[in-house]
Amino acid sequence: MKSIRNYIYWTAATSTIGPERVAKWTSILNHVQDVHSHDDPLFPKCLHPLCITTDKRKWMATGTPAFCKLEKILLNKRILKAVAKLSPHHQTSSLEAFHGVILRFALKNVVFPFLGMLCRLYLVALHYNENADRAQASTSTGKPLYKLQFPKARKGECRAKPIKTDPTFRYVANLMDLIFNQVFVDPAPFTQELLKIPIPEDLCSQYERPEGGHRRLCFTVQFGCCLNPT
Ligand SMILES: [Zn+2]
Repeated sequence: MKSIRNYIYWTAATSTIGPERVAKWTSILNHVQDVHSHDDPLFPKCLHPLCITTDKRKWMATGTPAFCKLEKILLNKRILKAVAKLSPHHQTSSLEAFHGVILRFALKNVVFPFLGMLCRLYLVALHYNENADRAQASTSTGKPLYKLQFPKARKGECRAKPIKTDPTFRYVANLMDLIFNQVFVDPAPFTQELLKIPIPEDLCSQYERPEGGHRRLCFTVQFGCCLNPT
């Protein structure tokens, strides 16, 4: 079940046309029988490394009740139609990763002024763009590295997560170059650009202050505004 669930994501992420998605999807029925080459030219064989099985019981066999049940589900017309339409886009994991980087650059429990927050968000974008597509790390012999994870949502079920290569920080060197070679030499044009950025008023100064100076209330409003510069 878990492998088939993962496989549906892989099918969506690696295919360009509907029939290719269906070919990959239906190949599961061969794969579970230890058959890894398929009739469909759009997906003629499995991409995993082949290993020789000594224990045939680990695979399914045609005609068994379990296989018939799986076949009925996988080849269900409505499922096939849905598989053909799977989209590789709109997966939220990269957005979640981006939000994770924001939290590292702009701690939630620290209040930043508008420009400070803006700069931090720019840094987040630079760091994320440089590191979003990092390759998987490997051993000196070229074996890809994984780590075991036990996500809370999966209730003790573990999964192997690829270990990425270390992040790079070339954008830092580029920024230092800019600062020392251009900004320090002639700051005027940079200052002018900076002054053009419209800075919104603090939220709390837009509202009427309640009688008796309830400063704590005002602080809460301002805190919210600084965390959400948009
Ligand atoms: Zn296979």
